[in-house]
Amino acid sequence: MTDLTNLTVAGIRDGHRAGEFTAVEVAEAFNANVANAKALNAFIVETPELALAAARQADADRAAGTLKPLSGVPLGMKDLFATKGVQTTAASKILEGFVPPYESSVSQKLWDAGAGMLGKLNLDQFAMGSSNETSAFGNVISPWRRTGSDTALAPGGSSGGSSAAIAARLCPAATGTDTGGSIRQPAAFTGISGIKPTYGRCSRWGIVAFASSLDQAGPMAQDVRDCAILLENMAGFDAKDGTSLDLPVPNWEAALSGDLKGKKVGIPKEYRIEGIDAEVDAMWEAGVAMLKDAGAEVVSISLPHTKYALGAYYIIAPAEASSNLARYDGVRYGLRDLPEGAGLQDMYAATRAAGFGPEVKRRIMIGTYVLSAGFYDAYYTQAQKVRTLISQDFMKAFEQCDVILTPTAPSAAFGLGEKNTDPLEMYLNDVFSVPASLAGLPAMSVPAAITKEGLPLGLHIIGKPFDEQGVLNAGLAIEQRAGFTAKPAKWW
Ligand code: GLN
Repeated sequence: MTDLTNLTVAGIRDGHRAGEFTAVEVAEAFNANVANAKALNAFIVETPELALAAARQADADRAAGTLKPLSGVPLGMKDLFATKGVQTTAASKILEGFVPPYESSVSQKLWDAGAGMLGKLNLDQFAMGSSNETSAFGNVISPWRRTGSDTALAPGGSSGGSSAAIAARLCPAATGTDTGGSIRQPAAFTGISGIKPTYGRCSRWGIVAFASSLDQAGPMAQDVRDCAILLENMAGFDAKDGTSLDLPVPNWEAALSGDLKGKKVGIPKEYRIEGIDAEVDAMWEAGVAMLKDAGAEVVSISLPHTKYALGAYYIIAPAEASSNLARYDGVRYGLRDLPEGAGLQDMYAATRAAGFGPEVKRRIMIGTYVLSAGFYDAYYTQAQKVRTLISQDFMKAFEQCDVILTPTAPSAAFGLGEKNTDPLEMYLNDVFSVPASLAGLPAMSVPAAITKEGLPLGLHIIGKPFDEQGVLNAGLAIEQRAGFTAKPAKWW
């Protein structure tokens, strides 16, 4: 039998349906891969028994003729989604030992669709980071290596456990969340696909909040079709999230088409940033040719406020984080540090000092500073104005084009420890992903090239609000032409 862990979500779904293998065989195969890949540190909690229980149910459902859309498919769950009865930490010490008495809306939808859970995936602490190095549970190591080198590489962040686990075939697909690029950049670093849908498509209920006006869940998977399948089973209106979109969930998989005749693709000149990696630039050029080959017309567009996006994001996201993270005070969740004889304020301070990592503390301090009485207008109000201008740039651009093509990240994966001494250098990684987050637009990364050193690079497609289909179809057109088949060599 072929190695079941090489199958896509569609391959597992269809093969199980056709009786080529059982769901239990699939779950056992992935459980074995998870157990043999401790060196990658992709999981914080492994739940092989939950994957098996869902698989047994899927096999019974097949026998009874009651198959569901994701019957037989085991998934990895980013440890930012609350899972009932299974520890949920956001990769922070402050939540260590927290076992939610409820399930997030998105994970519940996936279980209702028949999927099973392989475990909770590591991430940057509270989803703050681009390399997974801010996790309190140790960094994830990418399964990829530069040719002829043993240097441990970052899997991207914050969904670095998700990206590494998929690339290493520890799970067929996984959930991610994206506040400023955390689905797309790790996907690009590890040669997989990932889509952040329009803000509001997926319920935020039960997802540990980072920056609520930006946070959005989405799937990460081996290919575009799998992203479409999973997104259909994650999206949908939820009365428990006040920003949830009350729109029907389209049948994205059925409408997949790599034929882009009649479509216009915009190339934003402001994304030609100085010092862009030559191989990234070449991939971008090649991507333009691929989309032309798929029938699209390519036009030059302008997004004039792009250069302010990163600055605005790193004001707005910390501001919202400082407010959201005020709830971790030692009273209600996880860690409590109550020094001998201490009062309530001392307990708050001791708990937060012991529980939050350095990057989280940095964001809380930046956030409280930009929201403070003397600086609110100069920073927060100004950043919100810039955010509006950035949204308007996109709306104007979309009068000329249907989707926008850019690189996902300015470079291939960097080595662990290479960028974590200077926070600004780390923040620069988000330069291409953050504008779409500020504007709430759907955007995806698809693998498009391999560098001379043997590392994947991703192309980034940004779409109009609610046009996930346009994004997925452009992604498919690239996937069909890029011929990206490289896999990490197994060293772990
Ligand atoms: N790297 C960005 C940050 O650190 C984005 C993180 C995310 O999307 N969750 O804020």
